[in-house]
This record gives sequence, C-alpha cells and structure tokens, in this order.
Amino acid sequence: MKSSPASRVRAIERQAGYLHPEECMPPPPRSAAPGVMWFIRDGCGMVCALITWFLVFYAEFVVVFVMLMPVRNIVYSFFNGAVFNGLAFLALASHFRAMCTDPGAVPKGNATKEFIESLQLKPGQVVYKCPKCCSIKPDRAHHCSVCKRCIRKMDHHCPWVNNCVGENNQKYFVLFTMYIALISLHALIMVALHFQRSLIDQNFLFPLECSSFSPPATVILLILLSFEGLLFLIFTAVMFGTQMHSICNDETGIEQLKKEEHRWGKRSRWMNLKLVFGHPFSLFWFSPFARPDHGKANLYQYVI
Ligand SMILES: [Zn+2]
Ligand SMILES: [Zn+2]
Repeated sequence: MKSSPASRVRAIERQAGYLHPEECMPPPPRSAAPGVMWFIRDGCGMVCALITWFLVFYAEFVVVFVMLMPVRNIVYSFFNGAVFNGLAFLALASHFRAMCTDPGAVPKGNATKEFIESLQLKPGQVVYKCPKCCSIKPDRAHHCSVCKRCIRKMDHHCPWVNNCVGENNQKYFVLFTMYIALISLHALIMVALHFQRSLIDQNFLFPLECSSFSPPATVILLILLSFEGLLFLIFTAVMFGTQMHSICNDETGIEQLKKEEHRWGKRSRWMNLKLVFGHPFSLFWFSPFARPDHGKANLYQYVI
C-alpha cells in the first residue's frame, strides 16, 4: 500500500523500539513552574512583534493628529476616534495575549519510564514520542523548531506574534487578525473621506481644517498610512478567513499541509467554533481578556 510521507513518519513513531524512555532526562523544573509568563526568546519574532506594535501606533498617530484633530466637526472626530482607538486597543491586547499565552506546550522531557508507566497503557496501545524534546506527544501535537517544544493542535508558528498558534491561543490570534483588518479598513475609509473633503473644498491639503503639518508632510503621512492599511487589510483578512475555515473544519494548517487523514471525531462547525472560542456563545468571544473554556481538550490526548 502506498503511504504519504506524513503517514510514514507516524509509522516510524509507532514502532515499539522507537520509544526509549531511558534516554530521556527528567523534565527541567522551570518548564512546569506555574505563574511564569510564556515568552519565546526568538530574535526574529521579537523584532516582528515590535514592528507590529510600531505600525499600529503609527496608524493611531496619523489618524488622530493628521486626520481627526484638525476636523471642526467634533461629533465626526469623537466618533471615529473612539471607534479606531477602541479597535486598536483590542488588536494590541489580542496580540499580547496571543504572544504571551502558552499555545499548548507539552511538558518537556516527560517521556520518562515513570510517566509512561503512569499512563497505564493497555497492551498494544501506542503513544508517540518526540525525539527532539523527549516528550510524549498527544495526538495532533507537532514539534515547533522555534519554540523547541511540542505544541498541541499546532497550526503554525507566527513570527508576527512571536509564538506558535495552537490549542490555547488560537482565539487570541484570530481576534488579532480580525481587529487589525477592521482598523485597516476604518483607516482606509477615513483617508478616502479626507481626500474627498479636500477635493470638494478645492483646497487639496487643507479642506475646512488646518493640519499642524506642512502640506507635503501631510500627503506623505496619509499615503504611507494608505499603503499600510491596504497591505494589512489584505494580509489579515486572508489570514482571518483561513483561520476560520480551518477552525470550522477542525483541521490545523499543518494537518492541511501534510494531508493527514481525519482520525479524530467529526463535529458540527458550530461545535468546532465553540471549542476554540468558548461555550456558550457570548460577547466574550470577541474579548481578548476572556479565556475560553478548554474543558474538552482531553478529547485529543493519547488517542491510540
Ligand atoms: Zn517535540
Ligand atoms: Zn513555535
């Protein structure tokens, strides 16, 4: 029978001789320490995360000081300022939660004789061992070379949030892409309205209001914001759509790439959404501060 590369890897992992618990060191005490904030010390990821925050602050600066403050219509300025800053705050909060939440890391080095014995496996039952971090892998977990850990339901490693997207932080990552897409769209609409007012007023750079920046500086700041908004709108909207598709179909990005067979139970799309965002549906789904209930996470563990 012809088998895919992914199933061949699984077949190797299934061989009894592959599991060498005696080769594994006991887990380091720090990895299990409660209260330690999760943070990946990866140079490239930290730079990308900083760039993300800088770009959001740049957009806020241009929106507030170039477009809204000089407008005489206070209701327009206040409404758009509140909406834009509110959504930008939620985007940054989602980014922080996605970056600093353990995505579902399997305890490092737990493939010890004692741990395997404690699982009380039945004869013929197979567990997978990760040769890189010496851990017993639950089903659907994958090893991330950047995080140097096995991550449950790993979707991909995202340098923009400097973390893996996995079982525990996927909600925050999806909210991050959604809020960034929304502020990008909002910024583009405000730039379009700004230019429209300028043209109607036949005074290209200073419509009815006086910006405190020189005309060339105003144009450059607005053009840069338009480019940023368009680029981020496309990128995050595509990412949001891809994430929602994989959540509804209960198939991670890695599983789609490896074309892994659907070994796990099928649920409705609504149930799959609730598994990521929490049960039951509420406004908390949209809050980066509400931790979704993962009581059903054991569904994925130690499947034979
Ligand atoms: Zn691993
Ligand atoms: Zn990772």
